[in-house]
Amino acid sequence: MEPNNQFKTNQEIVWCKGCGNFGILVALQNAFKELKLNPDQILAFYGIGCHGHMANYLKINNFEGLHGRALPLATGAKLANKNLTVLAVAGDGDQLGEGGNHLIHAAKHNIDITCVLHNNQIYSLTVGQASPTSEKGFKTKSTPDGVFDQPINPVAISIAAGASFVARSFAGDVPHLTQTLIKAIQHPGFALVDILQPCVTLNYLNSFTWFKERIYKLEETGYQPDNKVKAFEKAQEWGEKIPLGIFYREERLTLEDALLPQIKKSLAEMSLETKINGLLSEFS
Ligand code: SF4
Repeated sequence: MEPNNQFKTNQEIVWCKGCGNFGILVALQNAFKELKLNPDQILAFYGIGCHGHMANYLKINNFEGLHGRALPLATGAKLANKNLTVLAVAGDGDQLGEGGNHLIHAAKHNIDITCVLHNNQIYSLTVGQASPTSEKGFKTKSTPDGVFDQPINPVAISIAAGASFVARSFAGDVPHLTQTLIKAIQHPGFALVDILQPCVTLNYLNSFTWFKERIYKLEETGYQPDNKVKAFEKAQEWGEKIPLGIFYREERLTLEDALLPQIKKSLAEMSLETKINGLLSEFS
């Protein structure tokens, strides 16, 4: 039996050979397995992008939504059934462009969702336009003279917005990514995992080799992820050296724990009859 068989579908994978998405797929399957989760307990929402094909490859409950809207869908689902493990799987253009507002508010609300950010620094499904995380000067079809502005930093923006767990990992280091995803899923609150995901077809700059020459692990330096100011400072590091690991972690009240006691029962706990009767009585 294949090691990750329980979370694998028999769909043919259409990603380009060598794409960083393969590492993310395997790491998620490993994480679910190590956490001993049942496929029925996991619900993942996707935006639009190459990452969204994962909905066909992960044998869990999947819903592919609109561009940039994985997080509001995931928020609704978590409030409807807080017993589910809920993921929002998104791309950099998807989550930081079209869905940038949703990231800020999910972090602020501290809803217990893990946001799995496939960050390949380019719009890949639409074959090669600059994304919000593209490097300054990077030449693409939409920026033939090079990107003129600063890239968005998903780690820094999440820390500033109030995310209670913020980490970065690399699609080329599956063991590190697996352990990071496990900690993110276990964290009781909003977790952002920024995953450096080389797009081998369209991003000629940020390759596996480019990252391997620069990345290092925070946990090997004695860094403690318990100070927001230091975490923000560490998040600015990019270029010659790129840190991986948990930048910031705190425990505080989640949105569902704040809201659900007020309504006594979540949607998943109500019987169908109760819901219909309640609705009908409003119009009688
Ligand atoms: Fe992966 Fe890039 Fe190919 Fe999309 S275009 S499947 S991100 S390598």
